[in-house]
Amino acid sequence: MSVKYMNSSSKALSKVLNYFSTAICNNGVSHAYLLSGGSAHLRREAAFQIAALLNCTAVEEGRACGSCEACKKVEGGTHPDLYTIEPEGASIKISQVRKLQKDLGYKKYEGKYKVIIIEEAAKMTTEAANCLLKILEEPLGSTVFLLLAEQKQNMLPTILSRCQHMYLGLHDEFVPIEDFDQYISKLLSKDKLQAIELAEEVQKNDDNFLQSFLSNLLRWYRDRMVWEEIRSEKLLFNSTWLSSLKKCEITAEGCIAAIEKITAAQKNLESNANKLLTLESLFLELTALR
Ligand SMILES: [Zn+2]
Repeated sequence: MSVKYMNSSSKALSKVLNYFSTAICNNGVSHAYLLSGGSAHLRREAAFQIAALLNCTAVEEGRACGSCEACKKVEGGTHPDLYTIEPEGASIKISQVRKLQKDLGYKKYEGKYKVIIIEEAAKMTTEAANCLLKILEEPLGSTVFLLLAEQKQNMLPTILSRCQHMYLGLHDEFVPIEDFDQYISKLLSKDKLQAIELAEEVQKNDDNFLQSFLSNLLRWYRDRMVWEEIRSEKLLFNSTWLSSLKKCEITAEGCIAAIEKITAAQKNLESNANKLLTLESLFLELTALR
C-alpha cells in the first residue's frame, strides 16, 4: 500500500498530528485510537502520517520529515513495525486478528513504535472484535492501534471504550458542556425523580445541545471506566470531570452498560424516537446502574 502523505491541508488532520507530536514528546501516546469522520482517504492518510510521525528519525516541527528511512518505509507500506488489516471480503475475520496477535508476539521492533492500522474497523466480526479487545487489554509496550471507521457509532461500545477518539470530519466535534458535573450529579443521586427532571430539562434545548449532551455523557462514562480501572488522570478524555468521576461509585461493568445504553439512545433518536421518552428511559436506566 502506498500513500502520498505530505500534501494534506486538512485542519482536522493537522490537529490530530499536533496531538501526536505533543503526546510523543510527553511519552503520553495511548495504546489505541479510533479515527472517524472525514473520507476513507483522509482517515488512511491520517493513519499513515501518524505511523510515520511515531517512527520518523528526523521529525521537523512536529511532523514526519518524509525523507528518512523510516518515513520512506511507512509511505511504501514496507516498514516492519507497521501492520495493516483490512476486510477480507465483507468482514475482518478472527483469523486475521489472531495472525496479527501472533506477529506482534514474536517480531522485534525496528523503529520506536509498532503501529497497527485497522481499516474499516467497524467491519470486524464480533469474534474478531472480542479477540482484538483481549489484545487491547494486555500491556504491549510501545504499540499503537489506529482503528479507522466512518462513524464511531458503528463500533462496538466495548472497543470504543478502549480507544481515544479522534474525529477528522467537520461535524460532531466534541463540545464540552458547561457545568456538566451538575447534570451528572442528578444521575448519580440515584433519585428517579431527579432523572425525570433532568430529561425534561435536557429535551427543552435544541437538537445540537441534545447531541452534545449525549456525547458528553458517553465520554464521561468512558472516563469513569478509565478512572475506575487505571486511576490515571492523563488518560482521561476530559480531566475537568475529575471531581465527579471520583465521587461516582459505578463499576467498570456499570460504565460499559451505560455506554451501550447511551449509544442505543443515540441511535433511537436518529430514527426520530420521542425525545422525552427516550431520555427519561435512558436516565432512569443510568440511575439504576451500580
Ligand atoms: Zn522521517
